[in-house]
Amino acid sequence: MGRLFLIDLERDFYSCKHCQTPFALAEHLISRAFYCPYGQAYRFDKVVNVSFGEREEQIIIPGLCSTTIDIYCVKCGSILGWKYESDHVENQGYRYRLVIARSKILGPGEDPNVPPLEDA
Ligand SMILES: [Zn+2]
Repeated sequence: MGRLFLIDLERDFYSCKHCQTPFALAEHLISRAFYCPYGQAYRFDKVVNVSFGEREEQIIIPGLCSTTIDIYCVKCGSILGWKYESDHVENQGYRYRLVIARSKILGPGEDPNVPPLEDA
């Protein structure tokens, strides 16, 4: 079970598309330039209200192996994205990456009944 954290809803936040549970503040968005099997994905440096799945070894690119851990919404159990861990990328400035699928979330102020736009 994940722990539930209180997020200050006065600030811009990203939330689960299915149950609108907030999982990250807009200020924790690092990059929109990432792609995953679900299409465009965002990188965050911090997420809350999520639970993590099993560790899984995965090849990111040929010759570079990484550990991936599924990230689920702690409330409804929907998959939101993945946590990537790799010793190989440590010298590039990060040891892990939190990648959230754009199609699984709502951005700040988005209506849950309107599909999110793919933005560049
Ligand atoms: Zn949810």
